Amino acid sequence: MFAPYRERGLLAGRVVRVDRGLCDLVTVGGTVRADTEFVVPRDPMRVVCTGDWAAVDPEGADPRYVRQLLPRRTAFVRSTSSKRSEGQVLAANVDQAVIAVSLGNDLDLGRVERFMALAWESGAQPVLALTKADLVPDAAVLAHLVQDAQSAAPGVPVHAVSAGTGYGLAEFGALVTGGTAALLGQSGAGKSTLANALHGAQAMEVQAVRDADGKGRHTTTTRNLLLLPGGGVLIDTPGLRGVGLFDAGDGVGQVFAEIEELAADCRFQDCAHEGEPGCAVLAAIDAGELPERRLDSYRKLVRENQRIVAKTDARVRAELRREFKRRGAEGRAAMRVKKGLQP
Ligand code: GDP
Ligand code: ZN
Repeated sequence: MFAPYRERGLLAGRVVRVDRGLCDLVTVGGTVRADTEFVVPRDPMRVVCTGDWAAVDPEGADPRYVRQLLPRRTAFVRSTSSKRSEGQVLAANVDQAVIAVSLGNDLDLGRVERFMALAWESGAQPVLALTKADLVPDAAVLAHLVQDAQSAAPGVPVHAVSAGTGYGLAEFGALVTGGTAALLGQSGAGKSTLANALHGAQAMEVQAVRDADGKGRHTTTTRNLLLLPGGGVLIDTPGLRGVGLFDAGDGVGQVFAEIEELAADCRFQDCAHEGEPGCAVLAAIDAGELPERRLDSYRKLVRENQRIVAKTDARVRAELRREFKRRGAEGRAAMRVKKGLQP
């Protein structure tokens, strides 16, 4: 895949850090810093991101430019918190999307389900890390919490870990020894501390949480990529306030696979599971086989996703129309000049 770039004398590099207008890439010749001017489209989904593979100018070029981003295998995307609904890529080419959820707060299963939907949607294998397990000293309580979390994340490995005491770290570490894992989760969830513990070094500055409910502001704006001692690569992403779904219909379906399976047996194909006769989903709730909370959460996420998809499609269409007008006005010559700059 890289051959055509190599023929042009370009180096393959993996993005480990992104700054405004610049990024660090790991190449065979070590870490290099390069300008991203030629690979910054307006679409935030296509902006350079930690984990990206890229073709970069060889040594000697000054300034050095990233010439081309290679297609992504997987991408963890959330919708930006702004009113404009855009996708923001948090990590690219990830094999395992590790969602960190702190046991220091009440376990919010809806949040677990939301993150899991995005994780499945990314194309990576989701993993759930319940962090700060030392804050739950009672083994029976801890076991219950793990069980609850597992019910919200079917098909996902769930691990209770403590970076503080080392609890569960060996088992968890063994899980991420191959390929690329990314740590994702809310600000204050303990991602950086966990990354440091796995990395065995204070590679990242751990942010103090300012308030008890874990809403401390994170100042980090870059994403970091660490090489783990056992092999494999770990990406730490900045803490998030929250994550919005972004075109994650398939991911939602996977998180609630048992509901979609039940729905196949509803009498009406378009059953809303709201009291229709012959509803297999409500029957499962009545029979105590499906917690009502799951159905409520499923409904909420399906609706949220539908809203964002509707909004995004309209926005993308409007953007395309504007783009065509602009091109018409500037003329083809200008476009050719611009393209000439690009590899
Ligand atoms: P991030 O925002 O997700 O990267 O979270 P940090 O790694 O910065 O950790 C947030 C806070 O949680 C810090 O005050 C850490 O000291 C604390 N913390 C992290 N891991 C643990 C743990 O295993 N046990 C306990 N008790 N506290 C932890
Ligand atoms: Zn139904």
